[in-house]
Amino acid sequence: MLKPNMYYGNLKESYLFYHIAQKTKAYLQEHPDAHLYRMGIGDVSLPLCDAVVKALHEAVDDQADAARFHGYMPECGAPFLREAIAEYYGKHGVSVTADEVFVSSGASDELGDLLDLFDRGSDALVIEPAYPAYVDANVMAGRNIVHLASSKENGFLPLPDENTKADIIYLCSPNNPTGAVFSREQLAQWVRFANENGAVILFDAAYEAFIEDETLPHSIFEIEGAKTCAIEICSLSKTAGFTGTRLGYTVIPKTLCRNGMNLNEMWVRNRTTKTNGVSYIIQKGGAAVFTDEGQRQIHDNIQIYKNNARILMEALDSIGIWYCGGKNAPYIWMKCPDNMGSWEFFDWILNEIQVVGTPGEGFGACGEGYFRFSTFGSPEDTKEAARRLVALLSKEKPIS
Ligand code: PLP
Repeated sequence: MLKPNMYYGNLKESYLFYHIAQKTKAYLQEHPDAHLYRMGIGDVSLPLCDAVVKALHEAVDDQADAARFHGYMPECGAPFLREAIAEYYGKHGVSVTADEVFVSSGASDELGDLLDLFDRGSDALVIEPAYPAYVDANVMAGRNIVHLASSKENGFLPLPDENTKADIIYLCSPNNPTGAVFSREQLAQWVRFANENGAVILFDAAYEAFIEDETLPHSIFEIEGAKTCAIEICSLSKTAGFTGTRLGYTVIPKTLCRNGMNLNEMWVRNRTTKTNGVSYIIQKGGAAVFTDEGQRQIHDNIQIYKNNARILMEALDSIGIWYCGGKNAPYIWMKCPDNMGSWEFFDWILNEIQVVGTPGEGFGACGEGYFRFSTFGSPEDTKEAARRLVALLSKEKPIS
């Protein structure tokens, strides 16, 4: 009898967003006229920008014309898009060649697929609280996971020490869910650790476009030594509203080798075997993001989310609530009022002020007692939710 991948039996129930949906549904059944202020799920609310929409329409017309029609696309990405992305890195002072850039259907797909590059016996280190896919993709592969808890004390940005042991290291900066961002010096410590120990860093830069503090690195390749120990995974989902359109990219330096194997060459072999590339139409839309016009337009949209973050941060500041994130990330990670568990806080604000967020416990045990707000909602709802939070929380004893 066929034996399925029994490691799936080790997956924990993925209940976080399901549970949130169930609770909000139950609330709406009891209060059918209520308006909910939804700041839970990290999906964007603004449509694609004009430059992208125009490029997508033109690409559809290309596909309707025999002379301009495209069939299968190159598996690792269209040269026009790989070059545009390499140029984008160049503008940010990082030298990357087009053949180090791989076009993907999104960061999630890639974060799972990339694990093909590593031995199943390698240990994967995940800093928690974490984006849940890091853990689950490794559980599915039967890999040992090293959970590294972070805390308010280290700003949710832990560093390696003499006890750290890992082969694959997940770093997410700006972080989901905490919004914390590694400084250059902190990233340099991880890079040094990876090079000294022969580990590989999977650097998830899905939120790099939200960084406004000029001293903070957008790419791990801004750090000396990273090209011999890191892979960077990026996405246009939050940067340019591609959550439903699907496009991402991954950078694997040609200098990244382990055990005599070149990871860039391995990934070319993987992609040419396991994919037939990303749709021509979507890649044309993606290339428009990297034009001057596209960059201006996506930054206008990002600014709207950043204003939401500012409103929420000002609200929390006004009542002395501790939080991190918000300034360089679309998430705000706040401390729940004294002794409140994160699900308890969820229920409280849903029932009292109709605001929906995400309990921190859903991102790992050390997220208990914290709560994530997403800033991807509408400005009107965010403003009202902030007002309601201040009114509710200032009635309670504020926490330090
Ligand atoms: N990485 C992080 C940290 C995310 O928060 C998300 C989505 O929320 C992703 C990756 C997935 O991005 P994509 O939509 O490109 O699959």
